[in-house]
Amino acid sequence: MNAEIIAVGSELLLGQIVNTNARFISRQLADIGVNVYFHTAVGDNPDRLKSAIEIAENRADLIIFTGGLGPTKDDLTKETIARHLNTVLQMDDDALTSIEQYFNRTGRPMTENNKKQALILKGSEVLPNEHGMAPGMIYKKDECFYMLLPGPPKEMEPMFLKFAYPSLRSKLGSYEVIASRVLRFFGIGEAMLETEIEDLIDGQSNPTIAPLAGDGEVTLRITAKHADLQVAHQLIDETEEKIRKRVGEFIYGYDDSSLMEELIKLLKEKELTIAAAESLTGGMFQQEFTSIPGAGSLLKGGIVCYTNEVKANILQVKEETIQTCGVVSSECALEMAENAAKLMNADVGISFTGVAGPDELEGHPVGTVYIGLYQKGKKTRVEKLNLGGSRAANRIRSIKYGCHFLLS
Ligand code: ATP
Ligand code: MG
Repeated sequence: MNAEIIAVGSELLLGQIVNTNARFISRQLADIGVNVYFHTAVGDNPDRLKSAIEIAENRADLIIFTGGLGPTKDDLTKETIARHLNTVLQMDDDALTSIEQYFNRTGRPMTENNKKQALILKGSEVLPNEHGMAPGMIYKKDECFYMLLPGPPKEMEPMFLKFAYPSLRSKLGSYEVIASRVLRFFGIGEAMLETEIEDLIDGQSNPTIAPLAGDGEVTLRITAKHADLQVAHQLIDETEEKIRKRVGEFIYGYDDSSLMEELIKLLKEKELTIAAAESLTGGMFQQEFTSIPGAGSLLKGGIVCYTNEVKANILQVKEETIQTCGVVSSECALEMAENAAKLMNADVGISFTGVAGPDELEGHPVGTVYIGLYQKGKKTRVEKLNLGGSRAANRIRSIKYGCHFLLS
């Protein structure tokens, strides 16, 4: 089965919202072996929507529409489809009851145009909306399925999972499954990674290997197709093994994981607490750390020691270090990490000091960064980076490197 997703809404074309519905639906369809060949976005305009439908009918046998099922004048998806397919809209009693109940529950008055939302394409299968009003529907004509879903993701996503997905699966019978796994790399550039595994990328079509780079990280998506999900996963395992043999030391995680999440996992496993001393990063390390649920008990605390005064008086970095080595120095980073951990009675200490930019500091170029890494009972390490990016990139990358060093 080949699908096309048509997102309806002028706000998509104006750049006011991102088409997350297409992403969500595509991922779900991949799981059941439905190929999505096209994503289309069209404004709230019946003529242009009609021409989008005509194009889609020629290249897909499942057309999924999102948006434009609401009560207002600009919501015209089902009206346009009905006209195009020469069918009519009919009041669906169950949908109407559920809309009335929705208004009763929320205590708001129901207006006449809300009834419009209970109209469905005559003869379609209704997909109940448990998080809003407009029901979805699946209509079939000439071997083509038309699935209409509401625009708001908080309505569309649960409707898709609970009602659309099972219905599609039953229509598909047996199908080829698409399984995929993302390997996450840090510490190796995209070009280098591609060079290392070029023959694997070029030499195989199932699974496929697709690299993607961004934010100082590189990922490889391995995608396999097979009628048996277990076999698809085996194919992925084998490919992962081949990749690991060559560049395994740079892999830190899978799928949606992040370096910070991996760090937190490691600290949890080893039952270690951490403290931070942040100059360059101004608290960003702790901000990101604490944004992950359950991280709180691992972070003892931190000091944002932006000035020399705070470095000396609060963090107790030696005056002599500041005077003779400067604050952008290995010596300062080392004391910062050690003192933070000791002051806060943590097992691990991490520190960030350096030049974020745009101006030089103490004669060091932008992007010079020292990261101190203390661990109780071990010799404190300091790693130096020469990043040389923008201020924002230097700060973000420093944090990623900090996690990477603690992980390795
Ligand atoms: P409503 O009853 O809320 O009007 P609707 O089915 O008519 O729902 P739209 O009016 O097209 O849907 O969109 C409503 C809201 O849903 C948009 O303002 C936007 O926030 C969200 N939305 C719509 N389409 C998408 C999309 N493709 N991706 C992500 N969000 C979307
Ligand atoms: Mg609407």
